[in-house]
Amino acid sequence: MQPFIYIAADSEGAATQAAVAPGARFMAGGTTLIDLMKLNVERPSTVVDINAVPLARIEERPDGGIRVGAMVRNSDMAHHDLIRRRYPVVSEAILAGASAQLRNMATTGGNLLQRTRCYYFRDTAAPCNKREPGSGCSAIDGYNRIHAVLGTSDHCIATHPSDLCVALAALGAIVQLRDPSGERTVPLTEFHVTPDDHPERETVLRPGELITAVDIPPLSFATRSTYVKVRDRASYAFALASAAVALDLEENIVRDARIAIGGVATKPWRSHEAERALVGRRADPAVYRAAAEAALAGAVPRAHNAFKIELAKRTLVRALSRAGAIQ
Ligand code: SF4
Repeated sequence: MQPFIYIAADSEGAATQAAVAPGARFMAGGTTLIDLMKLNVERPSTVVDINAVPLARIEERPDGGIRVGAMVRNSDMAHHDLIRRRYPVVSEAILAGASAQLRNMATTGGNLLQRTRCYYFRDTAAPCNKREPGSGCSAIDGYNRIHAVLGTSDHCIATHPSDLCVALAALGAIVQLRDPSGERTVPLTEFHVTPDDHPERETVLRPGELITAVDIPPLSFATRSTYVKVRDRASYAFALASAAVALDLEENIVRDARIAIGGVATKPWRSHEAERALVGRRADPAVYRAAAEAALAGAVPRAHNAFKIELAKRTLVRALSRAGAIQ
């Protein structure tokens, strides 16, 4: 691990001021950053510890939505009464990820900034455009079983690893940001970017910008929502495919739908195509399958991950079936 300057911040202002140093990183739960520093994949000049910054509240908004502070631990978010009752898809997505110990440390803001699990990214002996821009992508012609089929480029095909972000994308969450020049908001679906020519860029965050909260907007039919995750083993594994869905049904006709898929794309993947394939139609397996076909229509397989396309379709059909059966 390379030496670094450690700064403990106790306010948003102190944190954002400290983070203007080139190469600075915020540290919240540390569950991604510290791992990657030990591997020499992350080599920050300065680590700004934000654990004392008061951003750990979950509160109801005047519009009926919920604001989740960036330092709210994943387990506290998953088990919060408002989240469980109004947005079960969020609670289920969090509990499908990592281990209890990690969820007790990992934070809401940190979850948005998880780095990919691409093996080559974490191996400093392998070329990787995301880690070393311009060095090449070892996965495109390498072993790419866990890699993405949506949102890829000729420079990177790494999947985004978060479960929570898939649920937040489906629900239209908004990310609250702050830097020394002020505050701004970004829809979660625009917060992460596809790799294109610059895989080293994963979000629209500016240098030193701090995530302060995530707002989940009111969505009455989110009580009929669920998250399905398929992985190689039953726990503590990243998704091969996942789906977050919410359905608004009236007499078994879909009035509205929210759909996002994970484990198969370079960013949390909201599928408006799948939503359009559902709205106005009967909630039945054939319509669910048509929605799944629409969601994966643009998928590009590689040598070892073509199976993910059918897997993702079946995962989405299962999630829709489960949501449709909620009373
Ligand atoms: Fe690096 Fe992306 Fe290629 Fe993986 S897929 S080796 S993260 S450039």
